[in-house]
Amino acid sequence: MKTIMDFTKEELKDLIKPSFRAKQIYNWIYQKYIQNFEDMKNLPKNLREDLKRKYLISPLKIERVEISKDGSKKYLFKLQDGYTVESVLLPMKKEQRDKEGKIIHHARYSICVSSQVGCKMGCSFCLTAKGGFIRNLTPGEIAAQIVEIKKDNKIDPNRRVNIVYMGMGEPLDNLENVVKAVKIIQDQDGLSISPRRQTISTSGLSHQIKRLGEYDLGVLLAISLHAVDDKLREELMPINKAYNIESVINAVKDFPIDQRKRVMFEYLVIKDINDDIKSAKKLVKLLHGIKAKVNLIYFNPYPSSPYQRPSKESMESFKEYLNKHGITCTIRESKGLDISAACGQLREKSEAK
Ligand code: SF4
Repeated sequence: MKTIMDFTKEELKDLIKPSFRAKQIYNWIYQKYIQNFEDMKNLPKNLREDLKRKYLISPLKIERVEISKDGSKKYLFKLQDGYTVESVLLPMKKEQRDKEGKIIHHARYSICVSSQVGCKMGCSFCLTAKGGFIRNLTPGEIAAQIVEIKKDNKIDPNRRVNIVYMGMGEPLDNLENVVKAVKIIQDQDGLSISPRRQTISTSGLSHQIKRLGEYDLGVLLAISLHAVDDKLREELMPINKAYNIESVINAVKDFPIDQRKRVMFEYLVIKDINDDIKSAKKLVKLLHGIKAKVNLIYFNPYPSSPYQRPSKESMESFKEYLNKHGITCTIRESKGLDISAACGQLREKSEAK
């Protein structure tokens, strides 16, 4: 059965008359986290019954949750057809209260969502890649991951969260559905998460970066670069054979991005593979002329992984080199190291059971 969450509010307006019902339905689903049409009290009974006959609300349910010591929570969701996808809730800042117990700073969260079941890209460091590609997620299946996580953690509907399309799958390989998900997620009568809080992360499908740019949604872009020469990048990411580093960089240069924002380049640092200063030097050269920010990520070894975690020292000197050369660079601690944090691991464990 189709989920009503697959519709943008504009589409619902065309489908359900009078059109103000669309706003009410959006409120119930995305702000009140209601899961039954019967509970949508301000809709007429016959409409509630009609909707119940035709649609389901959430297209997924929580199958399993793992909580890390650092507070990140990894969710395994089961879809209607039995396939599973993962999402992660990452606490970015803790809530702060004054002496009287009044909240002075609200907690801040990012939610990392999946866009496909499996993936075609075949990155060598990724467990999702090993299972191959199964299918695209629908826009509603993408949005539902956020609703379920907000609901499960009792995150106030008005608390904005950041969204990163960095879970399972290559979002730009499912471009139309991802674009629609961005619109559903940003709707002010629903989750109301501005595109400026939504980051689409890609392995570098240059032609799709161009198409995403043409939609001019205002989303942020993150590129999984990981290597600075084509030979190594091809080894790590076979997609580089079709879209090499130069084509990715050129596509980024043309991408419309808010003047105050930067394009994020993800660089997965692997011990003795790409953690030396020579690589840092090349990276600086490559990003010349782009408002870029680099995020260094510790490689997170998984059982049977051929790669290793880099040392803290090599991470720090890499970062220092970039900072000294005018590129904002941060090191992302591998959140959830003690749980199954690398993409695809929770699913693999669950299937092995
Ligand atoms: S890292 Fe991302 S793009 Fe690469 S195979 Fe895994 S899910 Fe796909």
